[in-house]
Amino acid sequence: MTTTRAPRPPVPLADCRQCGEPIVFVKLDTGATMPVNPVPNPDGNVAARLQGRGLVGFVVSRDRLPGGFYPIRMTPHFATCEALRAERKPRGTPDTPLF
Ligand SMILES: [Zn+2]
Repeated sequence: MTTTRAPRPPVPLADCRQCGEPIVFVKLDTGATMPVNPVPNPDGNVAARLQGRGLVGFVVSRDRLPGGFYPIRMTPHFATCEALRAERKPRGTPDTPLF
């Protein structure tokens, strides 16, 4: 395991409207735009590459693996957004007794 950090992609930063943290946008091949954390994460499930001054990519799945032309791995911001996390009410697990 290396802890080498990839440099930040030279793309414009935005601010999350929920928590104010910096984010960048990845244009997905579905046409949607995904806010991701600006620091690449080798375990992130969005694969991206630079295109012009932006990032394009896709959500990694069993059928679509990262690598090749999409060497950057990013974490979707909603996975770490504190504001969104606070909004999400924790649901009881199936093991939680009702009474
Ligand atoms: Zn946020």
